[in-house]
Amino acid sequence: MKTIWNHLSKIFCCLVFLNPLSFVNASSVVQSMPKISTEDLLQLEDTFTKSADEFKSLDIRFKAEDRCECGHTFTFIDFINTAIKMGFHTKDFLLKNMFEPSNQHRNIRKPILCSQCGQRKMTRSFYSYRNWGCSDTD
Ligand SMILES: [Zn+2]
Repeated sequence: MKTIWNHLSKIFCCLVFLNPLSFVNASSVVQSMPKISTEDLLQLEDTFTKSADEFKSLDIRFKAEDRCECGHTFTFIDFINTAIKMGFHTKDFLLKNMFEPSNQHRNIRKPILCSQCGQRKMTRSFYSYRNWGCSDTD
């Protein structure tokens, strides 16, 4: 009984941040989303206090619904830099959010700043990352 409870609490721990709707199709949705590039991993390393390898372990995926008017395809870096520049979140919050034990699949409609031309565009962004740190809690 204790083993079952441990197992269930572990699953709950890992799924607690999932949006129930996205849970249903989480794996197919995530598989259709591109992983972020090596260049993006290196830029995350420059922006935060973690290494590119640590970010790589999160299997970060990102897709924006629209492109910028200038033709630029928005990246996870545009998304992160927008959150910081527009004051939606602090760097510390973003880092804590990414590295806390969770499994995130989200889509949000917010403005995003283009790293190519600086224009601001309202679009829907989809992102996913996972950190199985909670499997080490018992
Ligand atoms: Zn642009």
